[in-house]
Amino acid sequence: MYFNKEIETMSRKQIEAMQLERLKWMVDYCYNNVPFYHERLGTAGITGDRIKTLSDIQYIPFTTKDDIRDNYPFGMLARPMKDIVRIHASSGTTGKPTVGAYTKEDLDNWAEQVARIAYAGGAREDDIFQISFGYGLFTGALGLHYGLEKLGATVIPASSGNTQKQLMMMRDFGVTGLVATPSYALYLGEMVRESGYPPEAYKLRIGLLGSEGCTAEMREQIEKNLHIFVTDNYGMTELTGPGVAGECEYRCGLHFAEDAFLPEIIDRDTLEQKAEGESGELVVTTLLRQGMPVLRYRTKDITRLNYEPCACGRTGCRMEKVMGRTDDMLIIKGVNVFPSQIESVLVGTENVGPHYQLVVRKKNFLDTLEVKVELIDSSLLESFGELERLQKRIHDRLKSVLGLETKVTLVEPKTLERFQGKAKRILDLRNEKE
Ligand code: ZN
Repeated sequence: MYFNKEIETMSRKQIEAMQLERLKWMVDYCYNNVPFYHERLGTAGITGDRIKTLSDIQYIPFTTKDDIRDNYPFGMLARPMKDIVRIHASSGTTGKPTVGAYTKEDLDNWAEQVARIAYAGGAREDDIFQISFGYGLFTGALGLHYGLEKLGATVIPASSGNTQKQLMMMRDFGVTGLVATPSYALYLGEMVRESGYPPEAYKLRIGLLGSEGCTAEMREQIEKNLHIFVTDNYGMTELTGPGVAGECEYRCGLHFAEDAFLPEIIDRDTLEQKAEGESGELVVTTLLRQGMPVLRYRTKDITRLNYEPCACGRTGCRMEKVMGRTDDMLIIKGVNVFPSQIESVLVGTENVGPHYQLVVRKKNFLDTLEVKVELIDSSLLESFGELERLQKRIHDRLKSVLGLETKVTLVEPKTLERFQGKAKRILDLRNEKE
């Protein structure tokens, strides 16, 4: 039940031997081909020869998003442009985008990595997948596209938007698999219910959702509305794109493609490696990537790694679902708040829907957080007492989870914005005059 049994079920000893050999090669490859690494590794006195064990990786300097930005657009490339066959870029929220460059071999490896996680998530060659990610520079759509084709599934490059047409294709083409952001899957679920067709008109059975976080509560909601089994996968342009790690059917962590990526967990403050099983920032070294290799890339994602065997038989270590990207974290009155914590509370509360918005303001020099959430049924608006009780219940739960006072506003069904790509649920008005 594997896409590539030989690689996916290697023993720990075999994995580590392969990683050590590839790491040594990768260090020299970077030193010889990327001026940035030539200088960094030269200063640190690191060569492939000096790496004797995997733990020697700790002597290699880190690479950060700023390093990649400083070398925009092509300073991190290890190959001349004649060997590069594809460029991707991730939308930077600040300034220039982050570029990814791929050789032919990189694209083959990437497709293989995505095929493996898609297979682990339940995709098979007789599946018909609708890719409702926006195509373009973003790695998500084309990454899943070629990975699913490699697996042998049928791919419909629907792209995002035009929801009625998306639903029509799902019905007419007998679509069984969906690739989308969790927010869009949520919206599609609502529209499926409203489409007026009986549930049997849709043949959907699995969803490979990604590109933004998704709480367990939100996932349950999506699965219920679309009648699908959803798995999560992980990746980023700096490391290739999707395919770095992905859940198997047991959904107890995301299996890392350890033949291609070497993960570590570090302490964000001391930058020291953490012990096995401890939580900290994920750092990843690419072991196969040739167009744009990265050594010890600091992902800013907080997680932990589990090396225990998994019931599915895959031996790649499992990364705990990333619940909070440090980039998404809000600091309110000095308290760290992850939107996923709020989402868990809201989606787990009866009578309110999964659609919400967080509004942060500054009043008299103090931060305030307003949580707007949609009611499922507008009839609740007629009973002031019930409304007040619900509001208080959410307020109290948020207070115990966040340790913070919030203002809870219940709004009418279908009044908050729906998203066809990544959701934008935070409205931070602290630097604006209202
Ligand atoms: Zn597994």
